[in-house]
Formats: sequence, C-alpha cells, structure tokens
Amino acid sequence: MIKKAGGLTDMENDLQGVLKGQKIAYFSMEIGLRNEIPTYAGGLGVLAGDTIRSAADLSIPLVAVTLVSNKGYFRQSLDAFGTQTEQTEEWDPSNLMTRLQQEVSVKIQDRDVKIQAWHYNCKSLTGGCVPIIFLDTNVEGNSWDDRRITDFLYGGDHTYRLKQEIVLGIGGVRMLEALGFKVRKYHMNEGHSSLLALELLKRNGKDPAKVKELCIFTTHTPVEAGHDKFDYGLIEDQIRDKNDVDILRRFGGADRFNTSLFALNLSEYVNGVTKRHSRVSRELFPGYSIQAITNGIHSYTWTCPAFRQLFDRYLPGWANEPELLVRIGGIPDDEIWEAHWSAKKDLIDEVNKRTGAGMDYETLTIGFARRMTAYKRATLILSDLERLRKINRRGRVQLIFAGKAHPHDEAGKQLIRDIFKSIETLRNEIKIVFLENYDMDLAAKLVSGVDVWLNTPTRPYEASGTSGMKAAHNGVVNFSVLDGWWIEGWIEGVTGWSIGPQPEEHITGEEARLAEIDDLYNKLYYIIVPTYYDRRDEWFKLINNSIGMIAYYFNSHRMMRRYVTNAYL
Ligand SMILES: *Cc1c(COP(=O)(O)O)cnc(C)c1O
Repeated sequence: MIKKAGGLTDMENDLQGVLKGQKIAYFSMEIGLRNEIPTYAGGLGVLAGDTIRSAADLSIPLVAVTLVSNKGYFRQSLDAFGTQTEQTEEWDPSNLMTRLQQEVSVKIQDRDVKIQAWHYNCKSLTGGCVPIIFLDTNVEGNSWDDRRITDFLYGGDHTYRLKQEIVLGIGGVRMLEALGFKVRKYHMNEGHSSLLALELLKRNGKDPAKVKELCIFTTHTPVEAGHDKFDYGLIEDQIRDKNDVDILRRFGGADRFNTSLFALNLSEYVNGVTKRHSRVSRELFPGYSIQAITNGIHSYTWTCPAFRQLFDRYLPGWANEPELLVRIGGIPDDEIWEAHWSAKKDLIDEVNKRTGAGMDYETLTIGFARRMTAYKRATLILSDLERLRKINRRGRVQLIFAGKAHPHDEAGKQLIRDIFKSIETLRNEIKIVFLENYDMDLAAKLVSGVDVWLNTPTRPYEASGTSGMKAAHNGVVNFSVLDGWWIEGWIEGVTGWSIGPQPEEHITGEEARLAEIDDLYNKLYYIIVPTYYDRRDEWFKLINNSIGMIAYYFNSHRMMRRYVTNAYL
C-alpha cells in the first residue's frame, strides 16, 4: 500500500496505524508544522500546526488536510534600503513524508486534474498521533499548468486560488475517502476549504441539513473585504457543471461567491477566534449564530529550552496540562530571571551575528515581528523619532523587527522600507534591526528573547493574534493595542500594558491613531522604561503574571478541549 520514502520506516510514517475509528477532518490552506515544511505564511498556519500538535498530545482523533505547496510561501531577502525580493522556497516532501499510492481527481474546466498525496505523522510523546495529508497535483498526466496548482501558497491570481480551493476542498474529501478515513466532522479552518461542503452536498442528496451536521467553520477575518470572494464569471469558467454553480449561488451569495458565507450557510457550528472577533463577525453576518473559542498556542513548542527545563523541574506535567503554570509563583524569581536571561542572550547573539548591530544583554529590548501588512502598523513606534530619542535618554532601548510582506502587498513592503529609513536616521543613537526571513524558528527566538512584545494593529482588524501568547509563555511582557486576544488577557500593569483606547471606546481613524501614539510613548517613558531599570521586583511580577495569568489559559490544549466539547461532540 505505502511507498516508502528514503530513510523512513513504517513505524515513523504508518498510515494503517492511524486509520482506526472516526476522525475529525481538519482542513487548512496553510499548516505550520516545522521550519523544514514551509507550507505556512503566518499566524493562521501556525495556529493550524498548534491545533494538530495539541490534538496529538491529547489523543483527539484528528486528520489534517492541506496543500503540499512544494515551492513554499517564499524566502525573503532585503537589500540595504529594505526592499524585499522573494525567492521560491522549494522543498522536497520525499525527505520527510511518504507518498501514498492512491490518486483522486477533480474536474477543472473540462479536465480531470489528478491529485496525489503525501503523508506525515505528527507524533506526541504521549503516544497520540495526527496524520496530515498534503495534496499534490504535480502528477504525471496532468497538464503543465495543472501540475503547478499546488506549488505556491497564496501565489498567483484569482484563477489560481480558485483552482487551489477546488483541489483542497473537493479533492481533500475525495482523498480522505480513497485513503479509507471515516470522517464524522469536517472542520474548515478559514473559508479557503469551503468547497468541501459542495462535495458533501452532492454526497448527501443535496440536503443542507445533513451537510450542516457534518461541518464546523472557524472564521479568522474581522473585516468584510478580507473574506475570499470570486466572480461567478470565473466560477462558471472553472466549474462547468451548471448544477454545481447553482448550489454555490444558492449558499454562497448572489453577486459573488463568498467562501465564508458558503461555509457559514453549511455549518452547524461556527466560531470566531476571540470573544471580540465573534461579536464583530455577528455584525458582519447578521442572523448567524457565531460562537467564540479563543485561540491558544502550543505551550511546549513555543516555550524556550531554558523555561522548559525550569517548568519541568517545578511543575512536572505542565506541557500536557498548561493549567499548572498557574503555580508559577512557587518558582524563585532569580531562577525565572536566569531562564529569561539565557533566552535573551541567545537572541542578542543571533542578532549580532546576523547584523553586527552590537546589541547588548542589559538594554531593554522590544520586539515586533509578524506579517508585514498595513493593518499591523509595524511603524507606529517610529511615528515620532524625537519622542523615541527622549525615551532612549531616560533608559536605553533597542528594537528588533522581522516579518515578510506578501509579494503583492505594496503597502506591506513599504513598511519594511520605512523601518529601514528610521534605522538609518537613528544610527549611532538607538540600536534597531530588521531581521530577514521571519519563520517559525526565528519567531521562537524572538518571542522568548526580548523583554517587551509590542503589537500595534488597527482595531478591529486583529481577529486574535497569537505571537503575544507565545511571548507570555516565556515571561516576555505584552504591550499592545486592545484588539483580538489581548482584550481577554490584559489587566493593566498586572499582565502587561495597553496602548490606546479601551475596548468599549469607539474611537476610530485618525483620532484613535493619535491617541495610540501618545499612549505608546507615554507608557514607555513613564512606566515601562523606569519599571525595567529601577523597579526590577515589579518587573518580576509582570513576568510571573505573564506566565501564571496568560500562558496558563492562552494555550492550544485549552482551545482544543473547547473544540471537542463545543464543536466536535
Ligand atoms: C506566531 C506566528 C505568527 C503570528 O503572529 P501574530 O503577531 O499573531 O500575527 C506569524 N508568523 C510566525 C512565523 C509565527 O510563528
């Protein structure tokens, strides 16, 4: 049955062993499992990876489906001015995965496009295991174009994306069946996979009630424009079956096909990824019942080695029961500080090696790293360099940035150039670096090695955000705009600090921006810098609370237990 790839034994990647019982099929366009599998672009994919890791730890019967994206998202290079260029990040699935023999096909225009699959097992030390199926159209017999469908994550135009969604949604359902998986629920992580509901309708006598019972939809997008939409002209060109297109029109919107609306109409359980995001989604889609399951991150993956050792010693079992972190108060402050110091040293050494910036271990270090896109506002802290200089005179600060801009996101690319300009302006005054090619490994170093984790999105665009949860697991203190998860994690001066208006204040636009800039600089000057340098005991409290009041809750084990009890059962 299984064709073995080089170096893999049956034990390592055994499909038969994971076919038993009924599964939750978890569909995601991107999955961030590890650095060597570059099939993720940002938080959505890393969340999918954390979902899978927690499911494996907790022995939740999950099977995941995604595209192989064997040319990756992209590798980022930056020139001296911060101009981004992209290289393909080609990788060879056969080094890490097993190619399965089964083949299925989907109809695109008049062609039967063949799909093969790669199999990878995410294994937990607890004995749990989640198989992941990577769909691949690079199959002999397909046209040259069709062989490229699963090359690039989020690459190409609308037509390319629609083809990918046909492969993921429709092809994914067919592949799971061909492999012998028995599926009890289909969980769509964002709307990219919603065409799976079209396939399910056809298999269930076109009865939407039956399909709804099978489907769960998690939305991640808090603004109307963010939801994937396709013109029916394009749909009719790619999906030639009139009956199929009628179904898409009926459940996916009259004017354009809205993948989220289609998923909403055909899922019994729908949720947003924070409490605020669910409220915003209910306003976007009035009349729908939209629940909230707040995101979490995989505690073990995102806790740096020094803190893992410390937690192992004082809170054994914490990795599979992160609630135990609530007892952080029992660990001596000096040992916590030592663990932080070790992570900080690792990061600063890496920064100096990469950039020659000559950063030091003692200076208050602020980190900002995530996808470079306009709403994340990476440059907010650089809005008024005079005020930043003033802060730096009160107590020295150093800043570390990282993040990729999508190849078509001109505004995102401009942000990187703007940061480079500020770096140049402040040269010899404040040490600021921008690290190339943000990925999971660099993320792990950054979220554990800085002192303060900064997040300045435009409200309400940050549905959740997760990197701040990673920071909290490492005793790194959050300083963020009150949007997404931070509304639920924030207690002013106790778990970190807010930037700008309170959640219930409906200040928007320029007024909000000015208030946020003011608050950002004031808190740095009057609170954060003096606390860090002059009131270390207070800083220890913030570290303790980041772990004991944030990490103990904002983890994917808690999140997955919620999915099991609220959505899967
Ligand atoms: C966690 C993570 C993200 C998400 O960061 P946000 O600040 O939540 O947007 C993005 N990219 C990588 C590589 C990550 O590890």
